[in-house]
Amino acid sequence: MSNSFDVVIIGTGPGGYVCAIRCAQLGLKTAVVERWPTFGGTCLNVGCIPSKALLESSELFHRAEVEFKKHGIAVDPTIDLATMHKRKDRVVASNTRGVAGLFKKNGVIAFHGLGSITGAGQVTVTPDEGDATVLTAEHIVIATGSEPSSIPGVDLDGARVVTSTEALTFDAVPERLAVIGAGVIGMEMGSVWNRLGAKVTVFEYQDRLFPFADKDVSKAAMKSFRKQKFAFNLGVAVQRTELMDDGVKVIFKAKGADEEQEFVADKVLVAVGRRPNTDGLGADVMGVALDKRGYVTIDSHWRTNVPGIYAIGDVVGGLMLAHKAEDEGIALAEQIAGKPGHVNYDAIPSVIYTAPEIASVGKTQEELEAAGVAFKSGQFPFLANGRAKAMEQKEGFVKILADATTDRILGVHMIGPVVGELIAEMVLAMEFGATAEDIARTCHAHPTLSEVVREAALDTIGRVIHF
Ligand code: FAD
Ligand code: NAD
Repeated sequence: MSNSFDVVIIGTGPGGYVCAIRCAQLGLKTAVVERWPTFGGTCLNVGCIPSKALLESSELFHRAEVEFKKHGIAVDPTIDLATMHKRKDRVVASNTRGVAGLFKKNGVIAFHGLGSITGAGQVTVTPDEGDATVLTAEHIVIATGSEPSSIPGVDLDGARVVTSTEALTFDAVPERLAVIGAGVIGMEMGSVWNRLGAKVTVFEYQDRLFPFADKDVSKAAMKSFRKQKFAFNLGVAVQRTELMDDGVKVIFKAKGADEEQEFVADKVLVAVGRRPNTDGLGADVMGVALDKRGYVTIDSHWRTNVPGIYAIGDVVGGLMLAHKAEDEGIALAEQIAGKPGHVNYDAIPSVIYTAPEIASVGKTQEELEAAGVAFKSGQFPFLANGRAKAMEQKEGFVKILADATTDRILGVHMIGPVVGELIAEMVLAMEFGATAEDIARTCHAHPTLSEVVREAALDTIGRVIHF
């Protein structure tokens, strides 16, 4: 078999593997290089999929423990963590095997080992054992993703001071879990262990939970997480952690204060963001430019400064989301094959899989205000929705922001039951340039949660019915 390809893709996360499949479908001879034993990258192995598996299991436990009795069902549930982890591992394996199957089906050739750019149009694959293989390609795609970052003074030891990767495999429920960072990972993984019985204390530098979210959503989420017995230290800077015999000390200061405060936990989850992964990639060999934070620099067509080398996904920055990486992978494949490829960055949804779930697309109210855009806002609570009442899931609301003049939808922010599914309608609406009135005039089945979306749209034009 010749090791000469049209396209070689380094990394098989959602960006890389989807790009490879699309390249192969378009008739390009395609190879992927993956340093891990299984395909699917962070998302399938240690990210989206295992975290959602544990969120599902822990949510079921929580419902059985707390909510079943509201329905007149009496149970006394216990946790079998080993089985929970085994189920999660099966879910992961079925997904990663699925990617291997898709490579085979589409004729994508896979190489295992560290992929490094070693010359013009050349990628060297160095496996853990055995000889290196040199691949040549007209097009090289960097899809090497990201890895967890930490903060000065907080040394990750993988046992007691950990990242999301280890927090997915705790073999016992920690009694006291400290979470540094009230972002997506902090609150998703914090929710898993909180539901299973840990006392979770969150340390966040900003003065609110989910600092990037719409303020109303952030506020409602805070109220809900407080009810779930999370403890919060907001507006604090963690200075360092210290390992002790019987725990880990988290030393922090309120912003602007001199005085240090201490908190003792059994485990500390560090969830302060992720950084681009270019270790061992050989970006410097051909002079691929990185920005000052280490992200690969690209133009609007995912081209680096070196002809024939492209980059997609977490390694280029922007929203660090699997579906953003996938869309870039597809668009880039189309472009390499000589077709138009496009990603609409204004219509990429974000979902946080906590309970209540949080979902958004487009601009937040604060972003519109800062940009001086005139807008109108409509909001409707799940509390006034028949299906939500029947489900005993009455927390949250849908908020729609529309242009004051044209009525076009500019942003949608949701917190409530399964809003991660409800957001799809609004992403589509935005892709089609819909107005709030278009949504308000669309028939939504009764009784469904989607009626909340319609009522929020009705509210933007002052015609709400059920509130
Ligand atoms: P990655 O998935 O990081 O894949 C990069 C791949 O490249 C890896 O397999 C790596 O081994 C390989 N690689 C790196 N360097 C080399 C090299 N030199 N040679 C060979 N191989 C190499 N996003 C969502 O949209 N929804 C979620 O619910 C969600 N949940 C998450 C939960 C957690 C706990 C975490 C950590 C992340 C989550 N994310 C989620 C984010 C999502 O995982 C990432 O945005 C996504 O995986 C990025 O895809 P990627 O292809 O750019 O890179
Ligand atoms: P994040 O950016 O979501 O949150 C990091 C949080 O840490 C922020 O609130 C930030 O203010 C805070 N922080 C930063 N430095 C701090 C410090 N010194 N002390 C206290 N707080 C500090 O990052 P993350 O939660 O680590 O997640 C990483 C990426 O993974 C995100 O970009 C996210 O999009 C992605 N992800 C997505 C999902 C999902 O889509 N459901 C799930 C998990 C992860």
